[in-house]
Amino acid sequence: MTKKQFQAESKRLLEMMINSIYSQKEIFLRELISNSSDAIDKIYYKALTDESLNFDQDNYYIKVEADKESRTLKITDTGIGMTKEELENNLGTIAKSGSLAFKNENELKDGHDIIGQFGVGFYSAFMVADVVSVTTRALGSDVAYRWESEGADGYTIEEAPKETIGTEITLKIKENTEDETYDEYLEEHRIKGIIKKYSDFIRYPIKMDVTGQ
Ligand code: ADP
Ligand code: MG
Repeated sequence: MTKKQFQAESKRLLEMMINSIYSQKEIFLRELISNSSDAIDKIYYKALTDESLNFDQDNYYIKVEADKESRTLKITDTGIGMTKEELENNLGTIAKSGSLAFKNENELKDGHDIIGQFGVGFYSAFMVADVVSVTTRALGSDVAYRWESEGADGYTIEEAPKETIGTEITLKIKENTEDETYDEYLEEHRIKGIIKKYSDFIRYPIKMDVTGQ
């Protein structure tokens, strides 16, 4: 499997983001949950015009699962998913609204201001994870794909099994270092706190499950 490189611009931004800018690493969860919510919105709006899609509110949710043993945090949604091309376009470049605004403003302001004002996007996951994998199956597709990356050195895309439409994002949470702790992102109480702080307004249910040790 060949590893593809991020676009040069994306790569620089990603490195900056991972290494320095954020004092509030916790906002990664806000970003992933808001993407999941957007993806469910997309199915919802499609259902308004497509009668074959019967949007039943109960079938649409976001799930956050932590497993301390494997040090993984998983965010699953029943949203619209991504095709292989969408995976490539959306996660292979940083060119989306929130991220772009972030990049432009970054010249002018310090980290705190930026975090308050902008969605910084999917790549913020690398603040707390050393591997991010995205398994996704698009509405109308029989095939699912997994995008995986260890950060700035590129990503792979391969076919992967997935029974249902939607997206599952798995973060391999970093090990603690002398200066930084990451264990907290596997703790039920901490995760709940972050969700309450930033994602209280999300209109789909956010389910949670914490296991291990
Ligand atoms: P933004 O949300 O500002 O567009 P992000 O970096 O957060 O930027 O996300 C980039 C793009 O990746 C999104 O616009 C969307 O197309 C796609 N994406 C990210 N997460 C998901 C998801 N859970 N389901 C479907 N698409 C997603
Ligand atoms: Mg986003």
